[in-house]
Amino acid sequence: MNEFELIEHCFAPLAGPEGLRLKDDTALYTPRDDCELVITMDTFVEGVHFPDGMYGADVAERLLRTNLSDIAAKGGTPRGYLLSVAMNSELMEQWLPAFAKGLETTQSEFGCTLWGGDTTATSGKAVFSITLIGEVPKHGMVQRNGAVIGDDIWVSGVLGDAMLGCHLVTNQLISPAPNGQDIYRFESAYWRPEPAVKLRTILREYATAAADISDGLMADVAHISRLSKACAALNFDALPFSMGGEIWADGQNDPIAARIELASFGDDYGIVFTSSPKDRQAIFDAAREGRLQMTLVGSILPGEGSVCIDVEGQEIAWPKKGYRHV
Ligand code: ADP
Ligand code: MG
Repeated sequence: MNEFELIEHCFAPLAGPEGLRLKDDTALYTPRDDCELVITMDTFVEGVHFPDGMYGADVAERLLRTNLSDIAAKGGTPRGYLLSVAMNSELMEQWLPAFAKGLETTQSEFGCTLWGGDTTATSGKAVFSITLIGEVPKHGMVQRNGAVIGDDIWVSGVLGDAMLGCHLVTNQLISPAPNGQDIYRFESAYWRPEPAVKLRTILREYATAAADISDGLMADVAHISRLSKACAALNFDALPFSMGGEIWADGQNDPIAARIELASFGDDYGIVFTSSPKDRQAIFDAAREGRLQMTLVGSILPGEGSVCIDVEGQEIAWPKKGYRHV
């Protein structure tokens, strides 16, 4: 198949009406009157953001999901995306059908469609990029700069399962060895992070600031505190880990350092957000109703930066992130 046949065969079935069956130069989209667009982009480079040689459904799902997570963090509803594919032309023929399958599964789960893209042959490493477009009600985007002193800090989901999944998919040994269920859980957290799209009504209603957790909780909450000109204080003992994550951490020489590792690796794609303490009960209720795991992890204080405190009030030293994410 040549490039046009590949687009027709693999990608045209994923196109929404806005994509004009991928037959024109551009997509055409009419936003609703009462909405604004939120737009995000993520790029995956082979060997940096996914293991060498893996070009199939897993990579496609993960790429679209990371974009969905950005839109979710802003309280947005995903609508459509543009896809750029640059890879060896022979590999394209071999892999794009599976890649498209991963997109299909994910787009139908989250309610968006393909609107267009670009396909380029290269002799170098593969590079995949998605630009995702979503909608928020006018003036409804949850920004990073709105946290107020006294606000609660919340985290959705758990921290660190994706780190253990990343170790597993890159063949790094995990000890103690996780059971089969946890292996599945960790690998899924890595390949199929759960974008917190269901959180959007809570975020729109209550959040003063929000970010998705891509670089690690401490790094992402620090974006909020810096832009909001305040200090984010996290309660170390409140940080949410999965049972499998706890078992792994307790099996390390330094379980505290292991938990810090889990919380700072990133790739979790939950949401960290701030909101007024007066809304605490409403958020707990909404979380329970939506079956969302939500944890109160700290508060916004006067000052700057971010700190993490243990039960005795001691500050926990947090390392700067220096991992290369594969
Ligand atoms: P042009 O050369 O005019 O930029 P292309 O030949 O690159 O157009 O693309 C033709 C059509 O196929 C366009 O509608 C474009 O959006 C779509 N397309 C190309 N590559 C992709 C892709 N990877 N994913 C989705 N749509 C694509
Ligand atoms: Mg054109």
